[in-house]
Amino acid sequence: MARHIKESEFTMLEDGYTPRDLMEDLINDISKTDRDAFLVADLGEIVKKHLRFLKALPRVKPFYAVKCNSSIAVIQILDELGTGFDCASKTEIALVQAMGVKPEHIIYANPCKQISHIKFAATCGIQIMTFDNEVELLKVSQSHPNAKMILRIVADDSKSSIQLSVKYGATLNTCGHLLETAKNLKVEVIGVSFHVGSGCNDPRAYAQSIADARLVFEMASEFGHKMRLLDIGGGFPGSEDSKIRFEQIADVINTALDLYFPESSAVDIIAEPGRYYVESAFSLAVNIIAKKEVQIETSGSDGEGNGINKQIFYYLNDGIYGSFSCIFFEHGDVKPIVHKKLSPDQPIYSSSLWGPTCDGLDRIAEHLRLPELYVGDWLLFNNMGAYTVATSCSFNGFLPPPIHFAMSRQTWEDVQLLQKGILQSEDL
Ligand SMILES: *Cc1c(COP(=O)(O)O)cnc(C)c1O
Repeated sequence: MARHIKESEFTMLEDGYTPRDLMEDLINDISKTDRDAFLVADLGEIVKKHLRFLKALPRVKPFYAVKCNSSIAVIQILDELGTGFDCASKTEIALVQAMGVKPEHIIYANPCKQISHIKFAATCGIQIMTFDNEVELLKVSQSHPNAKMILRIVADDSKSSIQLSVKYGATLNTCGHLLETAKNLKVEVIGVSFHVGSGCNDPRAYAQSIADARLVFEMASEFGHKMRLLDIGGGFPGSEDSKIRFEQIADVINTALDLYFPESSAVDIIAEPGRYYVESAFSLAVNIIAKKEVQIETSGSDGEGNGINKQIFYYLNDGIYGSFSCIFFEHGDVKPIVHKKLSPDQPIYSSSLWGPTCDGLDRIAEHLRLPELYVGDWLLFNNMGAYTVATSCSFNGFLPPPIHFAMSRQTWEDVQLLQKGILQSEDL
């Protein structure tokens, strides 16, 4: 029996009280926060994303990629909504199983696995795993002979913010050999997967990979593999700030699916969205803990500023080793929202934001144009749910910020209703 989320595990938002109101109250209640950084996570946003997914990609069953954000409440709400889970390690498998997720709802989507982890998956009853090389097939034939394997192929990830195809994916001209090896080792291959890279801005990457997958399906059938699963991976945008809307990508995917994998092909289609589900659900509040003015000499002064420009360094109580670890991987824009009220004529200064650790690498952003701020002021950041808390650590003794989960009563009631409907229709 799944371990459902309980009302005591999140803040129930009553009568129009929003996640933003909760953040405001936490900011104002210094006795509670001590001005420590914290996150507010709106579980309702995850519910909305799920409904949007089902609407835009009706033929595709989502398996949430746990690595993107493995917060317990996130796993629980997604389990209640009826998604599956994409796990990449023994610990991730143990985590979702401890939440009561059934092995049929887990795919072990890591093409290069440690032998003891393969054995663990076998013991747990997890059957679906990915591979992209011959050595993996040998390991699987010895450690998990009943596995149902998915061949991961390379994808064009050049338009994505995190690229994965250098590390993973078989090229089309090696697939024949891999499928033949699988046959000789009596390892069952049931499908194809790909990942276009995280934060994909070009839907054509999906269409091309779906077409490639069809070729591999044909090859595999020639070797006698009974192909029945297509896994279109992750990469879907997670916020309205992205260059392309989720629905635009979905349109291209649906067209390609109808062409290469029509309903009559009886192929089950799954995806592994990570960022899509969680990015916009989390917001971060950080406090300015220290400040330094730096004078920068400028050439070509026009007389008035006598050639000196002020730059301000702000030191925050969260940084690259905490919630901003994603910056390191994504080179994304950092867009702070100044929390206090500002007058429109306030002068603007070139500003840098630094994290709290003593490492020079711990710089969140530079050359931001901000009004003058003071120790104790708050900065807010939206869209902090993907690859943030998942990759933070406690380097130098600075702990990752606590997360306050919240959901409106309306959404909570909708989830209870939805649950029944979806549990009937999910039958992969
Ligand atoms: C990281 C990862 C995902 C999730 O990617 P997003 O871009 O966050 O959607 C899905 N599948 C695999 C195999 C991954 O490694």
